[in-house]
Amino acid sequence: MTVRTRFAPSPTGFLHLGGARTALYSWAYARHHKGTFVLRIEDTDVERSTDEAVQAIIDGMQWLGLQHDEGPFYQMKRMDRYREVIGQMLKDGTAYYCYCSPEELDAMRERQKAAGEIPRYDGTWRPEPGKVLPPVPEGVNPVVRFRNPLDGVVTWHDRVKGDISIANSQLDDLIIARSDGTPTYNFCVVIDDWDMGITHVIRGDDHVNNTPRQINMLKALNAPVPEYAHLPMILGDDGEKLSKRHGAVSVMEYPAAGYLPEAMLNYLARLGWSHGDDEIFSMEQFCEWFDFDHLSSSASQFNTEKLNWLNNHYIREADNARLEAMVRPQLEKLGVDLSTGPALQDVIGLMKDRASTVNELASSCLIFYGNPDPDPEVLKEHLTDASREALKEYASNIETIDWNRDALKAMMKGILKQRKMKMPQVAMPLRLLLTGELHTPSIDAVVCLFGRETVLSRLKDL
Ligand code: GLU
Repeated sequence: MTVRTRFAPSPTGFLHLGGARTALYSWAYARHHKGTFVLRIEDTDVERSTDEAVQAIIDGMQWLGLQHDEGPFYQMKRMDRYREVIGQMLKDGTAYYCYCSPEELDAMRERQKAAGEIPRYDGTWRPEPGKVLPPVPEGVNPVVRFRNPLDGVVTWHDRVKGDISIANSQLDDLIIARSDGTPTYNFCVVIDDWDMGITHVIRGDDHVNNTPRQINMLKALNAPVPEYAHLPMILGDDGEKLSKRHGAVSVMEYPAAGYLPEAMLNYLARLGWSHGDDEIFSMEQFCEWFDFDHLSSSASQFNTEKLNWLNNHYIREADNARLEAMVRPQLEKLGVDLSTGPALQDVIGLMKDRASTVNELASSCLIFYGNPDPDPEVLKEHLTDASREALKEYASNIETIDWNRDALKAMMKGILKQRKMKMPQVAMPLRLLLTGELHTPSIDAVVCLFGRETVLSRLKDL
């Protein structure tokens, strides 16, 4: 059997984190089995579906590198096929016309509620051997209902949740076409999964309730029943359902906030799945390892700190030229004159170790450009007479020293030793004079990067 998976988003909003994780797992499962990953756009809710949302889904998947092998297929372009199957089911007797008006259905529901029963379609128009159906009312466009089995149970082995059984007595005769002839959501999913040869349905567990109905329809159509894996939802840091309140929920907000796609992928991969104690892994490894056995059956909690930790890891690993392409436009937008400091790639190389996001990295680079503007009070506190004398000596040594970090470090050490001073007494005012800040990477690295001329010019008025 060739594995075929699909990601089937409804284009009613952006691609959110839960959707991205579903896409990732479906993609990885197909890759693991050298199968096919299908993208299907479930756009039958015409009022809520938008082209922008389709684009947002495609952009999000592209950013993450979740390349589909087939599609995107649009359900709205498959209407003829759905109508064809509905026609066939009406002929086969697995579906039937129902002429109940909305008012009749309301009255039915009220009656059942009053009698303490669970509201459900009572089968008025369901054909049965020997049953006489009511006369067809005039001027009523009927809906089409699926003839769900009355007895027995629907059982499937969910690859995340284990065995699930639902009694058919709990299931209604589902409407598969509305009175205007348009097919309904559950029906389209079934026909698509069948036509597209989907072998494994990986989706959010908000669809568990749809599964027994979909299985019944597939069986009525003599279509193979795929395997199902229903993923638990993603909760926010506080244990509540993930929402706007928790910050970014659209995947495309993450590149804008300075996250690298490999960090997001690694993070989402671990959010509900594990491979021993492995926290950092590539997508090649993930595709090799991914299976249903190590999926978590309980909800996962989103943890921004962990995402930041992974992002920092991938920023450190990233090529400086790649980072520069992201950092440069941000600095240019701020009007920073990059000709006033060292080569941006070199600055990035020094600053990237501490950055949780590319945006943080960009702002940390600012200290190398333009003139430093230390707080006079802070400078006064750190630039004591002893520090000033030490820095004068430092500046004079700078003029002739070999320009490398080791030499700078040794020179600084010599000054400290001879003057019986501690590192911060010299390094802090030096940082302030060079960058305006107290916190920078190692002072030798910073001095080395600024270059002899700049350092001398900033120390000349001591
Ligand atoms: N279109 C559905 C959604 O976005 C997914 C349906 C499915 O995966 O079967 O929630």
